[in-house]
Amino acid sequence: QEDIFKKVISHAKEYGYIFPSSEIYDGLSAVYDYAQNGVELKKNLREYWWKAMVQLHENIVGIDAAIFMHPTTWKASGHVDAFNDPLIDNKDSKKRYRADTLVEDYVAKIEDKIEKEVAKAQKRFGEAFDKEQFLSTNPKVIEYKERAEAILHRLGKSLEREDLADVKALIEELEIVCPISGTKNWTEVKQFNLMFGTKLGATSEGAMDLYLRPETAQGIFVNFSNVQKTGRMKIPFGIAQTGKAFRNEIVARQFIFRMREFEQMEMQFFIKPGTQQEWYEHWKKTRLKWHLSLGLGEENYRFHDHEKLAHYADAACDIEFRFPFGFKELEGIHSRTDFDLGNHEKYSGKKLQYFDPEENRSYVPYVLETSVGLDRLFLAIFSHSLQEETLEDGETRTVLRLPFVLAPTKVAVLPLLKKDELPELALQIFNDLKYDFNVAYDEKDAIGRRYRRQDAVGTPFCITVDHQSKEDNTVTLRHRDTMEQQRVPISALRELILKEVDM
Ligand code: ATP
Repeated sequence: QEDIFKKVISHAKEYGYIFPSSEIYDGLSAVYDYAQNGVELKKNLREYWWKAMVQLHENIVGIDAAIFMHPTTWKASGHVDAFNDPLIDNKDSKKRYRADTLVEDYVAKIEDKIEKEVAKAQKRFGEAFDKEQFLSTNPKVIEYKERAEAILHRLGKSLEREDLADVKALIEELEIVCPISGTKNWTEVKQFNLMFGTKLGATSEGAMDLYLRPETAQGIFVNFSNVQKTGRMKIPFGIAQTGKAFRNEIVARQFIFRMREFEQMEMQFFIKPGTQQEWYEHWKKTRLKWHLSLGLGEENYRFHDHEKLAHYADAACDIEFRFPFGFKELEGIHSRTDFDLGNHEKYSGKKLQYFDPEENRSYVPYVLETSVGLDRLFLAIFSHSLQEETLEDGETRTVLRLPFVLAPTKVAVLPLLKKDELPELALQIFNDLKYDFNVAYDEKDAIGRRYRRQDAVGTPFCITVDHQSKEDNTVTLRHRDTMEQQRVPISALRELILKEVDM
């Protein structure tokens, strides 16, 4: 699995999808740039989402709020007080860990140790090996299972209650049973706020402390009344937004899965209090259906219900995707109650209510939120689409089977040879098609290599212009997934391709 993930990362770089940020200066940790193909895939994904959420709903509109917001926003939203992660430093290795991630590492390590004991015993006893019996009688396994798990349980409880006083001692105890770092020298656990601070204003005295937004949602809440009134929106209605968010993640890792600067696509759906259960179910279903429409396979998605709820939610779940490193959160669906609007009312002193003509009363609406990370979605689709196939002749080909609607370039026009006026005819086709979708033109290298290159970039179709094209105005149309080629009139290309690649 790790190998697959490495391939994903190197493919993303080699084929112009994602580069490390400021690479000539050795990069910046957990920050990435989208390259010439990446930016197209990302734009297509954003548009695919926008179309489903905004264009296809008569009661959902979009906005694009600023990244900078009045600092009180983040007091009202709870981020100043609650957006904290427990951190612990190892004094010897000088490594910093998120306490909760460290606990996960211990769990994995302990499972690993038990498995190794089982494998050893299995080898020794062969046929006669009884796993159940071994697990319940082997002293080492019992030590791991009982002692380590008891400590882990206490650790989990402490973290859950945010009662951090004994975390250091518990981690030191664990380190004895099952060493990860090999040292016992830990600091106390500290809370660390994940928001990036910055300043607005030229002089140091007059400057105002600001935060880069850690989520796009608040830009929607503070605009609730503006949109509701100017758009004459009636509850239930939604406001959607895509845009950058920033979090000073402690453990940023796994490529674009967890970044410090990332993009969210969020929709806040405003509803009558008391109807949240029904809308929660509705949006869970609707959002899963949207993901499934991309065709990556139902078995790669699952719901994960939250037991421990964030400070703003009365119900929450994730849609998880099977990434190369296992099932992980892709999208969150949260029933946020009136927490946000209610608090913004309190802090701003402005009414953020809705007059319900049917009930003849005003109330602070409840909110259902769907929030998906654009970069995570990109990673899900990109990693799933990257496939290596063995062909009939025994050769392998790398193909990026992106859904057609998302592919950066829909078709490549390739003159078979760089002579006999084939390039001229190919360029003419390029110029005819370029108004409808992204077209690539390539005349370099042997035709087979050019096909392989387009396969690896994920281009659904290749048009090849050959000598016959000049005689009868036909070309071959090659399909990425099947590699089949069909002869078609040049005049039919546009319709044929549009039918396949249009959103
Ligand atoms: P996680 O538990 O993975 O940190 P979260 O529960 O904090 O995520 P939310 O605050 O619910 O995430 O944000 C909604 C979505 O934004 C997530 O489902 C994810 O797709 C995306 N997201 C959150 N943090 C990051 C990040 N650091 N990098 C990339 N995407 C992110």
